[in-house]
Amino acid sequence: MSNNNQKKIIIVEDEPSLIFTLRDTLENEGYEVHIVEEGSTAVDKVQNIDPDLMLLDLMLPGKSGYDICKEVRELKYTFPIIMLTARDQEIDKVTGLNIGADDYMTKPFGVKELLARINARLRRATTYTKTGPIDNLTLGPAELNLKESYVNKPGEEPIQLTTREVELIRYLVSRTNEPISRDELLEKVWRYEHSTNTRTVDVHISKLRAKIEINPDDPKYLVTLHGVGYMLKVD
Ligand code: CA
Repeated sequence: MSNNNQKKIIIVEDEPSLIFTLRDTLENEGYEVHIVEEGSTAVDKVQNIDPDLMLLDLMLPGKSGYDICKEVRELKYTFPIIMLTARDQEIDKVTGLNIGADDYMTKPFGVKELLARINARLRRATTYTKTGPIDNLTLGPAELNLKESYVNKPGEEPIQLTTREVELIRYLVSRTNEPISRDELLEKVWRYEHSTNTRTVDVHISKLRAKIEINPDDPKYLVTLHGVGYMLKVD
């Protein structure tokens, strides 16, 4: 990856020694690192920097990591968020994942393991997260407007998309041309961590197909991968 495509990581953390270690490690790895030590300025920084990933401490002066995470997701940013929590806050893991964090690490953690997780998350995230959320998407003859939540198909009235459908599409787009399991969709779109109710996913996919595909029974874009799950196929 060239320097022009240097990935940006925001570190929201108030512990000087940890900031030092993280900055050093990540810069050595070739990342562009931005530090925020004050919780209340984190969301502004996100909007200025447009990062590819965020490391987010939970206990911060000014604003908590939870609130920052929630606000960032409400702004529809989809970049990965890895939460950094103290050992006695481990109980908060579920809350963290429920409000939109992708992963968490309990302090003290090994920097190598954190780096491995960062690299893995960034491989999964696609380029669209770099410019923030996309709002317009064309799938063959269907034009999707995700900001206004509707689909235009030739010769039809605009079709309304539900909030969940928009979230589902945004997630599918983030993993374009990659197989995605039902469990992953439940976790990432529905934020269910442990659920066996994968039927929920199938029902929503089927309704979404009816809206975005020209022939939903023979989908060209939102395809089923038997034994695997689904994939958004785009040339
Ligand atoms: Ca802290």
